[in-house]
Amino acid sequence: MPRFVRYAQLGRIRRRGFGRELPEQVRRTPGARRPPRNGQRLWITEPNLIGLTCWCNSLAIRGAEHVSSRFREGINDVPVAEYFSQDYHSARGLFQHAAQSAGAILQTFELPGHRDPSNRPLTIDVGRIGTREPDRALVILSGTHGVEGFCGSGCQVGFFVDHLCRALPASACALLVHALNPFGFAWLRRVNEDGVDLNRNFIDFSKALPSSTAYEALHDYLVPTDWKGEGRRAADIGLDAYIKQHGPRAFQSAITGGQYTRPTGLFYGGATATWSAKTLISILRQQLPPTVRYLAVLDLHTGLGPTAYGEPILTSRGEGDRERATKWYGPEVKDLAADEAVAARLSGSISDGVSHARPDVELTFLALEFGTIPMMDVLTALRADHWLHSSPTGDPAVRTEIQLQMRNAFYCESADWQAAVYGRTADFIYRACRGLATSSSP
Ligand SMILES: [Zn+2]
Repeated sequence: MPRFVRYAQLGRIRRRGFGRELPEQVRRTPGARRPPRNGQRLWITEPNLIGLTCWCNSLAIRGAEHVSSRFREGINDVPVAEYFSQDYHSARGLFQHAAQSAGAILQTFELPGHRDPSNRPLTIDVGRIGTREPDRALVILSGTHGVEGFCGSGCQVGFFVDHLCRALPASACALLVHALNPFGFAWLRRVNEDGVDLNRNFIDFSKALPSSTAYEALHDYLVPTDWKGEGRRAADIGLDAYIKQHGPRAFQSAITGGQYTRPTGLFYGGATATWSAKTLISILRQQLPPTVRYLAVLDLHTGLGPTAYGEPILTSRGEGDRERATKWYGPEVKDLAADEAVAARLSGSISDGVSHARPDVELTFLALEFGTIPMMDVLTALRADHWLHSSPTGDPAVRTEIQLQMRNAFYCESADWQAAVYGRTADFIYRACRGLATSSSP
């Protein structure tokens, strides 16, 4: 691709980041001002003549040739905060432009029957880069849990803008799956369009379903009859009593392990394979040729653990997985199967789905779980969200308040948090690539 075309595409990233879409989003999200950094920032939060003047001056001062030469030298001066978007639609556009600018091949899968809040399509977008005949591959997933996609999307954009694909071994390709749950991302929910948690959905529904007994004991407390009245107060007392009797870890496990009996409840695994689950399996089978023997997956999540720390959570499936993951990623790896992680054991995970889709590969599946706010506050946001959707209120102010609560529970819109999660993810991408480079048949 001619360099001036690539630069023009990078320019579109800038215009999306700095331009017409953001002021509208900022207005929709009270208090979501970004920290000021330069004249271009003024244009983001206050679309006025001063900002426009700064933007024009900025372009004139840099000069196309100057920026073009920096890009040619592999230098980009797009700040990390610009990798992160204000909403699903902007995130999708940014991902597409970053992927195309880096020379990736894009594929789009549209979710039928649903639109975003502005009546625009909802899609899973896939960017593929690297050799056409790989024997190993890196897959990076974002938005498995909808609203958590703010984080994952930003890191995926950085992958392309910062050319992290250069870390790939020569015989590898990378597949970046953007917004696996586009509905949840766009509508600020953790679950998908059917109220399903995708990370509990990859089970064989023709067989007996996993037990939901532990969750059943808590459901009425988790999703009370009212949110600000006597029903909520009684529910909170019930939850406190459960924690006192069984302990916090048993409490977490009962709620998050996955349940298959309450479609309006938390961590519902569904009654059938979701559109996202089927689409992911199809992507992995079609986009990764049979020559691929080694597969590293990084699945980007938020909402558990210390703020801005990314806990590497392995899902070990067999002998050697733990040893290999520790060799690749270091001793801080926690094994979900051994109940070591900040997350509790669960059924029907994405890891199960990847393993089902590609049983022929040596799979090293790692989730990076980035902390946001305290766990009980995250749980409160989830309860509010499920209450809202189980008994829809006609009050738009309540709906907006709960949507904002969800966004803030799963995404910290601050430059320090964004820098921490992006740096950590970039580091783990390098670790995965080094690990993949060492993989070989016995
Ligand atoms: Zn998650």
